[in-house]
Amino acid sequence: MKAALYNGPGALAVTEAPKPEVKPETMVLRIGLCTICGTDLKLYTVGNPRCKPPRVIGHELVGEAVEVGEAVEGFEVGDRVTLATSIACNRCDYCARGLENLCPNMKCISMDFDGAFAEFMEVPAEAIRGGNAIRVPREVEDRAAALSEPLSCVINAQQQAGVKPGDTVVVMGAGPLGCLNAEVAKAFGALRVLLTQRSPERLALARRLAKVEVLDVSSGDAVEQVREATGGEGADVVIAAAPTAESQAQAFEMVRKGGAVNLFASLPRGESVIEVDTRVIHYGQITVTGASDSRPRDVRDALDLLQAGKVDVDAIVTHELPLDRLLDGIELMKQRSGLKIAIKP
Ligand SMILES: [Zn+2]
Ligand SMILES: [Zn+2]
Repeated sequence: MKAALYNGPGALAVTEAPKPEVKPETMVLRIGLCTICGTDLKLYTVGNPRCKPPRVIGHELVGEAVEVGEAVEGFEVGDRVTLATSIACNRCDYCARGLENLCPNMKCISMDFDGAFAEFMEVPAEAIRGGNAIRVPREVEDRAAALSEPLSCVINAQQQAGVKPGDTVVVMGAGPLGCLNAEVAKAFGALRVLLTQRSPERLALARRLAKVEVLDVSSGDAVEQVREATGGEGADVVIAAAPTAESQAQAFEMVRKGGAVNLFASLPRGESVIEVDTRVIHYGQITVTGASDSRPRDVRDALDLLQAGKVDVDAIVTHELPLDRLLDGIELMKQRSGLKIAIKP
């Protein structure tokens, strides 16, 4: 079969690879689509010590079960399947507390197991046992289903931040995950969603989202613009989805009293120290939350949102390319000229 084999930073090639063979406790999917994640771009450019090459990467996937091991229960050939791709141990204290996304024994598709930039992929036994393999409803098309993994991370973040009906939510950064954050905020009932962005390419892409107020912060102060747009009050929830220390620090100046800040984007090591006036947090009773990864239940919630048509999939998935052009897709991500790029084997 054809597969994108990763061999370290800068070394990613679409090549012939052996088709995975089903085992009694696994199943094999024929991949329908896999979207490119920011972490794929990071793997390609700087690498990640957790990824053990040679490895087929790609984890935002949907596929059809073409072989199901005899010991697998709950799935049959023909089922469309997506994955919660961070596979927790389900034995540790974090897992017992429902924080599987923080499990220290986590294994991940595209890091510890081969992923989905390939014609076929084996779903590991751990994933099936752990409830990470999830059937996709018929109404959710492939392009939507592939978004369930990134959406699940956004859902986890907005639950942490406590986004609720009537809120004004600011999302800082209109990359693919920023735009998904804007969509989820609306789905959670936010009355107003303000999305800030600098680069003209992404401003144009963000403006395709309905009922999202896009603020061009390329010139002028983002804090001032948000304050002005909210009658001086600031937002109920600010989601820092741009990976810069500067924007994280600004989030604390955009939030209203009693509001919440969620640090959604991770900052590079060594660039993650910010200065915050804690008086703002203390006197304003600000809730500060983080968000990392997601759990199978978040992926199921994501599929529910997709099934209900709450996410503008056409605005988010800007490109669809064949597997042979994966590197072109990664280049599009690098140039920020697309949001989600779907790879179709
Ligand atoms: Zn991802
Ligand atoms: Zn665990």
